[in-house]
Amino acid sequence: MDNLLNYELIELNDIVSGLGEKSFRAGQVFGWLAKGVASFDEMRNVPAALRQRLSEQYYIGLPAVVAVQRSAEDGTVKCLFEYAGPNDGAVAVRIESVLMRYEYGNSICISSQAGCRMGCRFCASTRNGLVRNLTAGEMLGQVLAMRNLLRETDPAADIRHIVVMGMGEPFDNYDELSRFLRIVHDPKGYNLGMRNITVSTCGIVPMIGRFAEDFPQVNVAISLHAPNDAVRRETMPIARKYSMEELLNACANYAERTGRRVTFEYALIRGVNDGADQAAELATMLKKHIPAQFLHVNLIPLNSVDGTGLAGTDRAAAESFCSVLEKRGVQATVRRTLGSDIDAACGQLRSRY
Ligand code: SF4
Repeated sequence: MDNLLNYELIELNDIVSGLGEKSFRAGQVFGWLAKGVASFDEMRNVPAALRQRLSEQYYIGLPAVVAVQRSAEDGTVKCLFEYAGPNDGAVAVRIESVLMRYEYGNSICISSQAGCRMGCRFCASTRNGLVRNLTAGEMLGQVLAMRNLLRETDPAADIRHIVVMGMGEPFDNYDELSRFLRIVHDPKGYNLGMRNITVSTCGIVPMIGRFAEDFPQVNVAISLHAPNDAVRRETMPIARKYSMEELLNACANYAERTGRRVTFEYALIRGVNDGADQAAELATMLKKHIPAQFLHVNLIPLNSVDGTGLAGTDRAAAESFCSVLEKRGVQATVRRTLGSDIDAACGQLRSRY
């Protein structure tokens, strides 16, 4: 048995033709899958014989909901999902997705891997290393299952922004990430504009150039979290492989190739990377490599994670870090710490279970 959510429309055409049906039926099936149906029986305009034949070989791999946390403060919803990997030999995994409410609409942060092998010190997702890569259908399933959950109380609810910034390093699972992007973008399916998608990386330098070639309209966010190599190496092992110089040069090439701004994510960690002198150093480092109009820094006080010994910067110190950047001509924003009353930091909810 195979998860039908893993397939692009062009492949579904072959599947449906192979089952002796006209290929336009593939478009109907693909459309139903993007609506988030949980069973073939719900595909009302698809002939019963085709539904039957599909169900003999495929399943619709929506995840089971293990736990849901809702923030009373800001409406953030965090889900712990489980993929049982029923018949295809895949290891059962639990992964997290977070739904965030913004003025411009709902945005979901999805996971690209179960666990992660990147070893960032401040991150709960990496504690037990990488369990396995998620498939494209398992990435899509998080979006569909979250939307289904929202629609239980609000039938008109939708999710029109996706950030691939949850558990895992997306560029460490590039083929499935690419497949997911093509599926979710397809106008006959979920029909999400590439510009409404952001992929975050801890900085796998060679992949940044490749991504700019393959998906020039998708936004890229870089988890930077440090003003220099020494501080970055303290918290992010990837920094031992690629220097900031190499990373920022790759970002400059991305901006030049795509004409798109690069967002730098900077988790403010008290006493580690949040000093005024470090803000000045960060501004100098960024502007040295990337024209100011192509860069933006998102400052996020760290959501503290038990056992790391690291704590988030308070709001006032975050604002003053931000103003140092802005005075030096670097656009920056202090982000709300979403869902601070729930386990909103990546990997926290999964650790609890
Ligand atoms: S922050 Fe991202 S890249 Fe780093 S360990 Fe966590 S999931 Fe992996």
